[in-house]
Amino acid sequence: MARVTRTSAPTARARAIIRRLRLEYPDAGCSLTFRSPWELLVATILSAQCTDERVNAVTPPLFERFPTPEAFAGADLADVEEAIHSTGFFRNKAKSLVGAARCVLHEHGGEVPRTMAQLKLVPGAGRKTANVVLGNAFGIAEGIAVDTHASRLSLRLGLTDTVEPVKAERQLMAVVPRRDWTDWTHLVIAHGRAVCTSRTAFCERCVLVDLCPTGAQERQRSARTARARPR
Ligand code: SF4
Repeated sequence: MARVTRTSAPTARARAIIRRLRLEYPDAGCSLTFRSPWELLVATILSAQCTDERVNAVTPPLFERFPTPEAFAGADLADVEEAIHSTGFFRNKAKSLVGAARCVLHEHGGEVPRTMAQLKLVPGAGRKTANVVLGNAFGIAEGIAVDTHASRLSLRLGLTDTVEPVKAERQLMAVVPRRDWTDWTHLVIAHGRAVCTSRTAFCERCVLVDLCPTGAQERQRSARTARARPR
């Protein structure tokens, strides 16, 4: 089998990247805690512009207070706002949660819908949220959730040429095997937190360096800097 390198076809590189990252992050998975599709939908809506840790701290008391979509649908907006205040953008998020609960209740018989077309229409749930819920609560891969980590990593790895989420998702769907769509997001998020961070790409300790065009540029840059240093 030919060795996969940074100049190999994107599909071959994507497969090799997945294999490496699986070894590196065997426990990578959804870091939002949830017990049902509805809870994951709520947690994902809350995770916009907020850390998963904060969301995971807020949701247990939130679900104790509002245990079902019915409870959210009938809630006073101010009470929901107060319960989710620390996740930021709490007014919009509270409106989304109550709207989502009413939509799930009145249009889907109280069950979170299982298709992209239906989920995208739930208040507060765009394509990214729908991908998270479909992939992690139902095991359905209709697309790839592209958050800031996934967007940055995919770009640096040369598998996308844009940070525009819908275009980047389409480009990824063309090179990542469908069975790996949900895991792709988990794996690159784990790598984006540990090594290829938004501030610095630590290419010198990255397991993907031989598969990554950005890593190659970094190596050349470091070599030039070392050569230019006075002896
Ligand atoms: S080689 Fe560098 S840029 Fe590429 S994935 Fe690794 S840390 Fe990120």
